[in-house]
Amino acid sequence: MKRIVVIGGGHAGIEAAYIAARMGLDTTLLTMNLDQIGQMSCNPSIGGVGKGHMVRELDALGGAMGRLIDATGIHFRILNESRGLAVRGPRAQADKVKYRIAARRLLEGTPRLKLRQGTAAALLWEAGTRGLRGVELLDGSILPCEAVVVTSGTFLNGRILIGERRLEAGRAGEPASTHLAEQLRALGLRNRRLKTGTSPRLARASIDFTRLQVQPGDDPPRPFSFFSEGIPQPQVPCHIVHTTPATEAVVRENLGRSSLYGGHIEGVGPRYCPSIEDKFVKFPDKGHHQIFVEPESLETEEIYLAGLSTSMPPEVQLRMVRSLPGFEQAEILRPGYAIEYDSFDPLQLDRNLSVHGLEGVWFAGQINGTTGYEEAAGQGLLAGINAARWLQGREPMVLGRDQAYLGVMVDDLVTKGTDEPYRMLTARAEHRLSLACDLADARLLPVAREVGSLTPAEQARVEAKLARRERLRAQCGAAWVTQTSPFGPVAARAELRLDAGLSLSDFLRRQQLTSADADECLGRLEGWAAPQPGWDPALERDLLLFELRYAGYREREARLLEGHRAWDHVRIPADFRVEHLPGLSTEVKEKLKLHRPETLGQASRIPGITPAAVTLLHLVIDRSK
Ligand code: FAD
Repeated sequence: MKRIVVIGGGHAGIEAAYIAARMGLDTTLLTMNLDQIGQMSCNPSIGGVGKGHMVRELDALGGAMGRLIDATGIHFRILNESRGLAVRGPRAQADKVKYRIAARRLLEGTPRLKLRQGTAAALLWEAGTRGLRGVELLDGSILPCEAVVVTSGTFLNGRILIGERRLEAGRAGEPASTHLAEQLRALGLRNRRLKTGTSPRLARASIDFTRLQVQPGDDPPRPFSFFSEGIPQPQVPCHIVHTTPATEAVVRENLGRSSLYGGHIEGVGPRYCPSIEDKFVKFPDKGHHQIFVEPESLETEEIYLAGLSTSMPPEVQLRMVRSLPGFEQAEILRPGYAIEYDSFDPLQLDRNLSVHGLEGVWFAGQINGTTGYEEAAGQGLLAGINAARWLQGREPMVLGRDQAYLGVMVDDLVTKGTDEPYRMLTARAEHRLSLACDLADARLLPVAREVGSLTPAEQARVEAKLARRERLRAQCGAAWVTQTSPFGPVAARAELRLDAGLSLSDFLRRQQLTSADADECLGRLEGWAAPQPGWDPALERDLLLFELRYAGYREREARLLEGHRAWDHVRIPADFRVEHLPGLSTEVKEKLKLHRPETLGQASRIPGITPAAVTLLHLVIDRSK
C-alpha cells in the first residue's frame, strides 16, 4: 500500500491527513506535539466573508473544518446578511479547547490514519532516483512514504518578537523547526520572511463587562457544514469596546519599543490584520478602533481581544489594555507578540500544489505565503486530495476560478505569487455571483463524486436535497398566480396587478415581494416545508429568490468575463492617473503606480490587484476613449 506522511497538525495538516485517509491511503500525520493538533494560534474563530465561503467549499468536498466548528462553536453569526446571498459569509467563535479535542478525536477515529508525535528534520529520496523514500525525524527514526504534504505553518525558522526581545519559536511555547527549513532552502527553493502577530489574552474576571457593548450571536445559530444536524454547544455573546485617546497616546509614546517600529522585524506582515501600532500610524484620522472581546473557551477564563494585535513590550501592552473602558483592572494572561517565519514562493508550485521539480512533495498552508486557518485548511484539503490521486495514478484535481474560492486562491498563488501574507477576500473572485457559499455543495457535487471524497451517505444527502430543489423549481414554474388564486392575497398586499396571471416563478421575481410574502406563497406548495436532512426552508427560499432575481446579472457576469480574456489587448494610456480614481483601494493604487502596467492583462496579474479593480479600470479607460 502507498503511504503519505503529512508534516504538521495545524489546519492544513488536519485536512490533508483526513482526506487522504478517507480516499483510502495509508496516512500518517506527524506533528511536534499531539496535544496541539488544531491549535488556533491567533483568533479563536473560523469563517467570515470569503473565508467562510472556503469552509463551505471544503466541507462540500468532504473536509473537516465545517464539522469541527459546528461541534465546538459558541457564537455563530452570518456576516453581511443584509447584503445579499453572494457575499454573506458564516463566522463562528470556537471553544478553542474543545476544537483541539474534536480535531484530534476526528483524526483518531479515521480508519487508515495514524498520528505520530515528532519533528521532521529532512525529506529522504532514494539514492540515484527521484522517488521519495520517507521522512527523517529529529530523533533519527524514519517514516517511510512515497508522498509527503508539508504543512509546517509559522514554524520554519520561526522567531517570536516582543518589544526588543527575540526568541526562536514556532509559536508561543513551541519550538521552531530549523532543520527542515534549512533542507528546503538547500534544495534551492526560494523563500522569504513573512510575519504576523497576535493580541494579548486577558483574565475574564478582571474585565467589567457591564461597560461593554454586547454583540449577540444569531438565534438560532446556523451550522457551517452541509452535514451537521445542529449546534450542540451553549451559545454566549461577544462584546465590543473602542480604543480611547489614552490608548493612542500609549501606542505613540512607545512606538520605538514595538518590534515592528523599533526595526526588529524584516518580514512582511498581513495587510488585512494590521497590528494596533500600524492602525494608529497608518490611519491617523480614524480616531478610535473597534476591538472585539471574545471568549476563548467555556472551559477557561481566557478572553481574546480581536483587533489589538501588538508586538509592544508586556508592560506597554498592559497600559494599552487598561486604557480601554471597562478594562481599568485588566490582567494579562498571555502577552501578544509578533512572529517571523520562512515561507516559500508559491510560484514554485504546480496547480495541484505539488512542488515543481520535487517529486512526491506537496506544500499547503502558511508555508505557501497565506495567512489564516481557512486558507490553510483549503490548501491542505486540495494537497491531500492531489497527493492521494498521484499515488493512485489519477490525474490532478484542479478547481477553476469559476468553481470555487479555493480555485481562486490556488490560481492566485501559483500564477501571481504573493509578496505579503495572502488572505481570501470576495473581491479576489470575478465570479462572485456564482460562488455563493450556500451553493457550494451543489456546485462541487460533481467534483466530490469524481474524487470520491464524500461517504455514500453524505453524497446521497446532497443529491436528495438537489432533487427536491429541482422539484420545487418545477412546481414554481407550473403554479399559476391570479387575483383569485390562493396567491391572490399576497399580490393584493404587495399592490401587484395580475391582469393575465403569471407563473409563481415570475411572480416571485418581483422585487416588491418580501421574504415573508415568498414564504406565504411557497407554503401553499405541497411538501414545501416537510422535514428532510439538510433542507432549511428559509435558506431554500433565499436561494430560489436569488436564482430568480439575479439571473440577468449572472448572465451579464458571464458575458463580462468573456471580455476579460481580451484584456491583454486593452492598453492603459501612459498618462493614465489612478490617484483620484474613486472605487480603487489604496493598495490597488499603490501597486498600479509601482508596477506601471501597460495593458489591463498585465495589471490583472499583479499580486493584490483584484478582478473588480481591473473591471473598474476597464470601464474608465473605455469611457475616456
Ligand atoms: P499551523 O496551524 O501553524 O500548524 C503548523 C503545524 O506544523 C503545527 O502543528 C506544528 O507543530 C507542525 N510542524 C511544524 N514544523 C514541523 C516539523 N518539522 N515536524 C513536525 N511538525 C511540524 N491568521 C490570521 O488569519 N490572522 C491573524 O491575525 C493571524 N495571526 C497569527 C498570529 C500568530 C502569532 C500566529 C502564530 C499565527 C497567526 N495566524 C493568523 C495564522 C494562522 O495561525 C495560520 O494561518 C494557520 O494556523 C496556518 O495553518 P497551518 O496548518 O499552515 O499551520
